Amino acid sequence: MSIKSALESEGIDFSEYMNPPEQWNGQALIRNINGTKYACCPFCQKKALLISPNTKIQHLKLKCKGSNCKKEFEVNV
Ligand SMILES: [Zn+2]
Repeated sequence: MSIKSALESEGIDFSEYMNPPEQWNGQALIRNINGTKYACCPFCQKKALLISPNTKIQHLKLKCKGSNCKKEFEVNV
């Protein structure tokens, strides 16, 4: 018996398990640290860029500097 038919025999709609619960859109995490905003890596939360009140950034691709992370994300402020 396949996993799919096993789940269906339990009355579980298999399609619910095929989609991730939250679709992440590739955006940086904006954190406010002691009143200063930073664009942070959404994977390891490492600070990547300081965001001043008049900073305007669109579609900036950044690569995380974390040695165990190195993932790419996009900054829009
Ligand atoms: Zn990271």
